[in-house]
Amino acid sequence: MKVKTKDYARQYETLWPELEPLVRSALFEDDPVLGRSVAHFEEELAAFHAVRHAIGVGSGTDALVLTLQALGVRDQQVLTNAHTFPGVVSAILLAGGEPVLVEPDRETGRPGAEHFARHLSARTGAILAVHLYGHPLDLPALSALTATHGIPLVEDCAQAHGALVGTRPVGSFGRASTLSFHPSKNLGAFGDGGAILTNDEALAQQLRIQRNLGKRDKYAFQCVAPNTKLDTLQAVLLRLKLRHLPSWLTRRRAIAARYLDALADLDGLMLPVVDRDTEPAWHLFVIRTEERDALREALAASGVRTGLHYPIAVPDHPAFQARFANTPCPIAREWARTVVSLPLSHEHEDQEIEHVIRTVRTFFETPRS
Ligand SMILES: *Cc1c(COP(=O)(O)O)cnc(C)c1O
Repeated sequence: MKVKTKDYARQYETLWPELEPLVRSALFEDDPVLGRSVAHFEEELAAFHAVRHAIGVGSGTDALVLTLQALGVRDQQVLTNAHTFPGVVSAILLAGGEPVLVEPDRETGRPGAEHFARHLSARTGAILAVHLYGHPLDLPALSALTATHGIPLVEDCAQAHGALVGTRPVGSFGRASTLSFHPSKNLGAFGDGGAILTNDEALAQQLRIQRNLGKRDKYAFQCVAPNTKLDTLQAVLLRLKLRHLPSWLTRRRAIAARYLDALADLDGLMLPVVDRDTEPAWHLFVIRTEERDALREALAASGVRTGLHYPIAVPDHPAFQARFANTPCPIAREWARTVVSLPLSHEHEDQEIEHVIRTVRTFFETPRS
């Protein structure tokens, strides 16, 4: 049996009957950028996250850069997860901020509010909380911490569409929150896309200008800004997928529950930890083992593809090496060395997941010579 990590063809095969007439009408709407479909999608996306405004942009990275710029972090420190998607660090630097890496808790891989608090100083401009793998950080505590210190909380929800803290969606806690619609994400476009969520009317207005060349209207350029808009075709596709997202999340949660149950007793394998009162979005199911490479080989030999998120710690990338030469991040490095992502998407079938489970169990139950 072959088990892929993602199966786009399978996804579009299922969606195509609904999608075909929508694509057709979008192409004939005569409204290719920032059109009606984008506005409708923004409204629906904001409602889904229980916030007032959503601003569609060209990518999740652009969403981060625009948000951090608008919040004025230039020459200030931005505290963020040390174990993370490295593009987040680039976004902070592109916005003129100074990234400060916050080591995570060793068991969960996530920093708590107390980890962020240790790095606060007069130079802190924002906390950028990344809900890595779809697991919410401690948003009540981070909201309280940032409120006390008078700095904005920004949530990176690129991997967490639909994750909950209690009954409240992630993305609704921060001054602003960012989403990515990269095809691999839980809510993925057919290409790049992103969005910013906020309840702040003035910030939303500013971001609408900043995503569109700094234009206030058709002719007046108000500020110097890039061109990073969400296009109509992606919006049409994303509107349809947003309607399916709740049932897709239910399926992801069922697969995660099955893995957690079926792999709980294996020595040498560490499973993801779910925090109390949170409902993860399960963008990725990341396990850890000292035998990562051998496990991946065994899975590959059984036709199972796996991913690595992420195998190189931030301080070890050529792009950041000099900057973080004195930032050892031993826990982030340990995670980078031991993580492996098992297949999990709403498209996976039970028999595929059972095949993965059998292969992982056999690997850990077979005595090593
Ligand atoms: C994917 C991702 C991004 C970047 O999104 P793009 O749309 O690919 O630019 C940012 N942060 C995290 C946590 C991500 O997973």
